[in-house]
Amino acid sequence: MVKHRPPYFLLTLLLSLLSLTSPYHSAEEDTPITRFQQYLRFDTAHPNPNYTAPISFLKTFAQSVPGLQTQILEFTPNKPVLLLTLPGSNPSLSSILLNSHLDSVPAEPSKWVHPPFAAHKTSDGEIFARGAQDDKCIGMQYLEALSNLRSKGFVPARTIHVSYVPDEEIGGLDGAAKFTASKEFENLNVGFVLDEGQASTNNVFRVFYADRTPWNLIIRASGTPGHGSKMFDNSAMENLMKSVEVISKFRESHFDVVKAGNAMIGEVISVNPVYLKAGIPSLAGFVMNMQPSEAEAGFDIRLPPTADPDLLKKRIVDEWAPAARNLTYQIIEKGPMRDHKGCPLATATDDSNPWWSIFKQAITAAGGKLSKPEILASTTDARYVRQKGIPAFGFSPIKNTPILLHDHNEFLKDTNYLNGIKVYKSIISSLSSFEDGSY
Ligand SMILES: [Zn+2]
Repeated sequence: MVKHRPPYFLLTLLLSLLSLTSPYHSAEEDTPITRFQQYLRFDTAHPNPNYTAPISFLKTFAQSVPGLQTQILEFTPNKPVLLLTLPGSNPSLSSILLNSHLDSVPAEPSKWVHPPFAAHKTSDGEIFARGAQDDKCIGMQYLEALSNLRSKGFVPARTIHVSYVPDEEIGGLDGAAKFTASKEFENLNVGFVLDEGQASTNNVFRVFYADRTPWNLIIRASGTPGHGSKMFDNSAMENLMKSVEVISKFRESHFDVVKAGNAMIGEVISVNPVYLKAGIPSLAGFVMNMQPSEAEAGFDIRLPPTADPDLLKKRIVDEWAPAARNLTYQIIEKGPMRDHKGCPLATATDDSNPWWSIFKQAITAAGGKLSKPEILASTTDARYVRQKGIPAFGFSPIKNTPILLHDHNEFLKDTNYLNGIKVYKSIISSLSSFEDGSY
């Protein structure tokens, strides 16, 4: 009888494959795509984002890149900031900082075709995950690009920092706001920042030079209560409804400019009603034969850096919530409008800003095209660095992709992701080689 033994070459093949497997995920091979999938699988969604596991994953990866230093800063307990540093050859030059946030908005798994934290890749290469576009792609692409550059012996002239901050999706007060206000940040001597942008649905990349500043406006009306059948002036509801009408007209006039193609959405003031609170509750719903003595409405307002906040405040006092109609108001400013010198929070996109030309050329060198620079309709952590007078662009190298941030079925295609690494290699090497000491 012949005894069967496994062929020797199969055994050695198996052993060599085992030794090649990832230190991060033993069941998968280790490629930029599998590493991206692993980062996407950490559930960093609010209200309970897990920051410890992704930071440890990123730190392990960063420690495999020769010369890349790692440190964890904590300005609020359990809200860590991971900071990576690749020292430049000329320490007298200011540094560049690449920022991304660790957290994401929640996802409703039942509305997704693939589970939002499984990072499933389809046969077409689409990777489905919460955070695939916003903004775990860029966090990993920064690292992959640096790792790639270092493997070819790249040494930057300027020091390069990469930061991973918590809580961007809830305003960044315990994240980027505290980080940029810290002594540690001051010591980084940052001269230029890249932060997240947004996907482009066509073949050109988008770039953002400013964010809009959010305001929350609450208007409260009071008036004489009365029987539901009675006609009289100055009821709380009547006063509030008049305000809603005036505000709706303002909203329409700004929206019309956008619809006519004369401005991009980020360039106008937007105002949207978000809640109405009135009525006297009853067991069946609301008391119908009584006009209430109080009513309230809430509005989300977004101001581009070109808007005059004082002018808008005057409009609110005079037209939207005049005291003569028994209205009071409250404005909650959710971020700065001006930098430390009183200038609008916007980064120049012309020859006055050398970072702009370098950035643009680096995109071209990587075979990409840039569309007209935009003001972001929403907000990012970039506003905190712009507030310090530091130039910052919002950029995510995602093209030919639907804009799915905060949406169901957020995905990014593998080829798009890999091309993004190539784009960042070009951007990082160009920006960090800029040797003019006055910037
Ligand atoms: Zn984001």
